[in-house]
Formats: sequence, structure tokens, C-alpha cells
Amino acid sequence: MRHETVLVTGGAGFIGSAVVRHLVRKTKATVLNVDKLTYAGHLASLHDIEEHSRHRFTRCDIGDRVSIRKIFSDQRPSAVIHLAAESHVDRSIDGPAPFLQTNLLGTFVLLEEALRYWEGLSSGRKGEFRFLQVSTDEVFGSLSDSGRFTEDSPYRPRSPYSASKAGADHLAKAWFHTYGLPVIVTSSSNNYGPYQYPEKFIPLMILNALEGRPLPVYGNGENVRDWLFVEDHVDALLGVLERGRVGGTYNIGGGCELRNIDVVRRICALIDSYSPSAEIGPREELIRFVADRPGHDYRYAMDTAQIRSEVGWSPRESFETGLSKTVRWYESNRAWCERVQAGAYQRERLGLGR
Ligand code: NAD
Repeated sequence: MRHETVLVTGGAGFIGSAVVRHLVRKTKATVLNVDKLTYAGHLASLHDIEEHSRHRFTRCDIGDRVSIRKIFSDQRPSAVIHLAAESHVDRSIDGPAPFLQTNLLGTFVLLEEALRYWEGLSSGRKGEFRFLQVSTDEVFGSLSDSGRFTEDSPYRPRSPYSASKAGADHLAKAWFHTYGLPVIVTSSSNNYGPYQYPEKFIPLMILNALEGRPLPVYGNGENVRDWLFVEDHVDALLGVLERGRVGGTYNIGGGCELRNIDVVRRICALIDSYSPSAEIGPREELIRFVADRPGHDYRYAMDTAQIRSEVGWSPRESFETGLSKTVRWYESNRAWCERVQAGAYQRERLGLGR
């Protein structure tokens, strides 16, 4: 890892906390963790490294220009990994405003301040600097049964969330082309793993199945996602930071396409074997098909040839091993789950529109 000081935005969220834990434990880098601590951000996700001497946390909105400027000028990072975002599609359907505020305008402020700081660096440090814009496969829209997204696929976002992320990607690319800021954009498929907020599909199904609550599957359960274990995503991001082409874009995917209904069935089978319950019975009987998400994208799938050849990355975790680790983690971290949901979310249905 050639970067000594890395600014991570959204470092108290699901993927951000995995990035921060990795940087602190496995590299010598100092991590500047900037997070607003929304309902989705929790220092409890960093409990074992929060006090580490190379972890510096600032509670701050990425749209707070004054604070962001001060962090750049005082702490002098050589890289930014920008993960802070409103990230839940269902919430974006119910209330898009914070998505535009953070994902679009917040990214704009961060780019502006990164550029201002970068322009003041010596030429050597300028060449080293990277701004990594972390994005999603959802910006490419919805696929039918065949084909995969490549880096050249047109942007066709269809939800307020994906539209706000697409807008942020366009800004980041524009700051490269227009001002020369060394930006790289990554687009990743659906992540899963420990510390994911319980509103998201896999942890929601795990927790409800453990408690014998209904398992709400949207529509007919046929929608397909390409699942990626979060630690594989972290490896990909750090690989791109080190070896990625400035101005480049990289698709990241687990190469593991599954229909939602099949994911739920696998979760049920794992929980039936790890935590059998005579009272609850077979978990598959808890599955309920419920009203579909408005505008629900049918299928996402990533062509990852470019990151494999240019960066030398490929996912290490299979869905079987990753899902098993994830189920085990939620089973033994119920206190974390209670804590992050408290007063904010009771696993109610979100995203039916306004
Ligand atoms: P998350 O919701 O778990 O975490 C987001 C974090 O950002 C939280 O800690 C939150 O407090 C923080 N945050 C929100 N608004 C902020 C603001 N205005 N200022 C500072 N901090 C703010 O999300 P995640 O799943 O970890 O996703 C992280 C990034 O990765 C997002 O940009 C998301 O679009 C992208 N992504 C996620 C996935 C996925 O499957 N989870 C897939 C592809 C891309």
C-alpha cells in the first residue's frame, strides 16, 4: 500500500467500515474516517479499531464544505475512497431528497474540495493522489435474461438512488476530464456480509428467519442479483487504488448470479441447520410474496474482465462460504443488530412509494 494517509467517507457504514478495518489491520496507512453517522452509520461497527492510533474519526457531513476543507488541509491525504451515501433503494422511493443532497451535492462538495487541495500539492504528490468514486451496477439499469454490463454500458438509472449515484459518477468523471483530478470510478454489484444494516435483503431475511418472522420476497422472487462478499469488494477497491488507471472505470462483481427466491431458500436451509427450532419449524414456510418494488430492476450482472486483467483482482469467496459466514455473524451479533435498529427501523416494509 503506497498511500500513507487515506480519507474514507462513509467509514462507519457497511462497506466503509470493512474498508477502514482492512486499512487499519492490514496496512500501515492512517485512516481519516469521515461519516455523518446517519441511521445507517455506527461506530459500533468499528468497535475493535475505533481507538487505534491510525484511525482518526470525524463526524461530519460530506456536504459541509468548511469541515471537509479543514480535513484536507490539516491531514493531507494522498487518496480518497468515497463511500458516503444514502444507499437504500426503497428509502429513495419513499423520500429522494437526502439522496440528492448527499449522493449528488455531497459528492460535488467533496470533488470541489479535493480539487482545491490537489491543485496546491507539489507535482510528485499530485501524481500520487487518487479520488476513488465508489458506485454501483444499478447505474446501468436493468438487464433481461442475457448479457452483462461492461464499463462501456450506457448509464440508464431507474430509481432515485441509482439516478443520484449516476449523477455523482458523471460529476467525478467530469472533474477528471475538465480539471485533471485523478479520479477512478468503480461500479460494484450487490454486496453482502457482516455489519450490513438490517434493512438490506440478506440481513433482513437472516434476522427474520432466526426470529420466525415472515420473509417478505418482492414480486415473484425472480429478480436476479450478482452477489459479492464485502471483503472481496474491499480487496477490489484497494487493488484499483494501487494499480487502476487514472480516469478509468472498473466493474466489480462476484460472478454469482442468483434469483432472490433462491437466496432466501439458501438462507432458510442454513438457519434450519445452524439454529433448528421446533417452535418455528422449517424456515421456508415463512416465505411470503409481497407487492413488488415500484420500478424493480429485473437483473444485474457484471462483466469483470477489465479489473481481472488490469488490476489482477478476482473474488475469493464463493456464495456458499460467504453466506455461511454471514449467517453465523448475524446469529452471534444480535446485540449489534438491536443497537443499530433501535429507534430507527423495526424491519417494516419500505419503498412502496409516496
Ligand atoms: P451504508 O448505507 O451502509 O453506509 C453509508 C455510510 O455513509 C453510513 O455510515 C452513513 O452514516 C454515511 N453517510 C451518509 N450520508 C452522509 C453524509 N452526508 N456525509 C457523511 N457520511 C454520510 O452503505 P454501503 O452499503 O456501505 O455503501 C457504501 C457505498 O458503496 C455507497 O456509495 C453505495 O452507493 C456503494 N455501493 C454499495 C453497494 C452495496 O451492495 N451495499 C453496492 C455497490 C455500491
